[in-house]
Amino acid sequence: MDKPKKISRRAWLKGCAYVTGAGALSVLGGRFALADGSAAKKAAKSAVQYQDSPKDGKMCGMCKFFIRSGGMMSEGSCQVVEGAVSPMGYCILFTQA
Ligand code: SF4
Repeated sequence: MDKPKKISRRAWLKGCAYVTGAGALSVLGGRFALADGSAAKKAAKSAVQYQDSPKDGKMCGMCKFFIRSGGMMSEGSCQVVEGAVSPMGYCILFTQA
């Protein structure tokens, strides 16, 4: 299993607020670690309306949760959403970096 990524409790709570607001808490899966070392879950793509294209000029490559793994256009991952993420993707948890 991959080592969990660390994000701040504040960023995690903000993400949870969006997910809960979407009524999707029950479909969460995966996990990541908060800065204090406690474990938290990543959201399923379907729960956060992930799409492989930008929305209103917003995209994963500009999001504070995006984890780049290669070049500018290489697929990466996300601190709060499970699975591979395109730098051109978008979801409702988008937060400007
Ligand atoms: S837009 Fe969503 S999927 Fe993309 S990096 Fe941000 S939180 Fe992750």
